[in-house]
Amino acid sequence: MEDCEVLVLGSGAAGMTAALAAHDTGAKVRLVERFDRVGGTSAVSGGVIWVPNNPQMRAAGLPDSREEALAYFRALDHGDLRSDVLEAFIDMGPEALGFLEGIGALKVVPLPGYPDYYLDRPGAKPQGGRALDHDLYSLGGLGDWAAKIYGIEEPKPMMLRETPLGGGSGVVPPDEIGRRMASRECGFGQAMVARLLKACLDRGIVPDLGVETLRFLREEGRITGIVVRDGAGTREWRARSGVILATGGFEWDADLRQTFLRGPANHPASPPTARGEGLAMAMAAGAKLGNMTSAWWAPTLAPPSSRWPSGEQRASPLLIERTVPHSLMVNRAGRRFCNEAANYSALAGAFHAFDPQSYSYPNQPAWLVFDSQYRARYPIETTMPGQPLPDWVTEAASLGELAAKTGIDPAALTATVERFNGHARAASDPDFQRGTSAYDHFYGDRSRHGAAVTLGTVEVGPFFAVEVHMGMLGTNGGPQTDARARILGHDGAPIPGLYGAGNAIACPTGGVYAGAGGTLGPALTFGYIAGRAAAHRDNA
Ligand SMILES: Cc1cc2nc3c(=O)[nH]c(=O)nc-3n(C[C@H](O)[C@H](O)[C@H](O)COP(=O)(O)OP(=O)(O)OC[C@H]3O[C@@H](n4cnc5c(N)ncnc54)[C@H](O)[C@@H]3O)c2cc1C
Repeated sequence: MEDCEVLVLGSGAAGMTAALAAHDTGAKVRLVERFDRVGGTSAVSGGVIWVPNNPQMRAAGLPDSREEALAYFRALDHGDLRSDVLEAFIDMGPEALGFLEGIGALKVVPLPGYPDYYLDRPGAKPQGGRALDHDLYSLGGLGDWAAKIYGIEEPKPMMLRETPLGGGSGVVPPDEIGRRMASRECGFGQAMVARLLKACLDRGIVPDLGVETLRFLREEGRITGIVVRDGAGTREWRARSGVILATGGFEWDADLRQTFLRGPANHPASPPTARGEGLAMAMAAGAKLGNMTSAWWAPTLAPPSSRWPSGEQRASPLLIERTVPHSLMVNRAGRRFCNEAANYSALAGAFHAFDPQSYSYPNQPAWLVFDSQYRARYPIETTMPGQPLPDWVTEAASLGELAAKTGIDPAALTATVERFNGHARAASDPDFQRGTSAYDHFYGDRSRHGAAVTLGTVEVGPFFAVEVHMGMLGTNGGPQTDARARILGHDGAPIPGLYGAGNAIACPTGGVYAGAGGTLGPALTFGYIAGRAAAHRDNA
């Protein structure tokens, strides 16, 4: 392929959206992917997209407005929000979704009743509507490309809204699952990436896989392409209008993580494709960085035997297990330290607390402790009630024995559990207010009522414990952009020819995880803005 107008680095949700938006303006587009698979973190994600005032909620009669969305963010601002990019996200998000739906690259509906994460703030939507879920998509139309979607060996033949993750029962008749498997229908991030990929392929945007980018080409200050190395050697690929950085986060690079992130933080839940190569290239180009200490935090479980195909430790977000009744979290001193049912991103604040007296992080390591009532009713990771427990779950006849096996302070653990049981019986948690927010109820046991949806005693042995890590779904810091997705240099002026979107850039919503889909909403929106801006040579 000869030179293009717009060159996009990275084939996740941000990159493919950027490619489609650029193509829509008539630009010739090249999509370059570092690994031999398409989709990165987007492909293994839940795929939920959070966009305020979106067309789908309007169609469903759920009211929202720009002003409410802005009020919500401003009430969550700790000084890291920049008005221009935040407003660009809020203003352009609905248009980006409309564009993608219009060309068949997206098919979403509001996730029923999924509340925003901070319901005590003005502009929050307790009844949901801003979080969107994908309809099923059949991989049939993708031909050989279907097998190139990251993680597709583990197909997800359900929509998120059918599963407990999306507030559903998790029950789909076996015949229907069989039909979906036979017709290769999938939901979650797989449906999102598959639709985006199909739209790209239909337009002749065929991803170049397995391409290593060595550096940007720069002429008279302007980014004019990239220097690549692949099976065919080292070459220059030029882009007449612009280069878009959509390479994902840096959580899999230990040095970058150690250098920048507030911590301790390890065991990311994303696949090992987010290695910060785009960040390194942006730094070399003189980009001004933003949001670097922050991430899309999430407590994770990391079973030692769970591995990515390339061998790295695999971790999964801990969500339902810490929210349903009959479980609590304690630190090594045997004390609770948070509302276990709080949203995953905000929880990092509790895990990262530092004690100056002992000069240590008292809440790491932490354990989820649960009892036999829990075991009879709820899953732990993929192990269902009645199935044998994996060996990474510690089991003991008594709390004292559990403490001895895990290294938790035994007397404190017993006292903490006794106190917690009192709160559970009263269905009221004066210590951490677990169960007071509608959000705490979403992942609870909805067959129960009031705060009992999430509160239940831990008193029937044997008892169990698993270590909980503070991981992340991805990072959200990187080069700063302006409202037109133009990457800024140290002096605050756009670097000519360079644009960015997704986890590769300083997120337009700062570190605020506003609601389910709070990372993919900005990623798609800025992908859309970047694609159009690059094609129009918006910073010539
Ligand atoms: C288990 C899990 C569930 C999640 N669920 C949700 C959810 O439901 N909603 C939500 O909003 N967020 C969710 N997230 C987070 C979300 O998936 C990410 O924030 C989002 O996918 C990032 O998109 P992206 O396009 O920026 O990056 P990615 O999807 O990671 O794509 C980046 C691509 O760039 C490629 N790349 C890397 N380096 C280079 C290079 N040098 N040159 C070329 N290509 C390169 C990568 O291989 C990858 O394909 C979830 C994350 C996880 C781990």
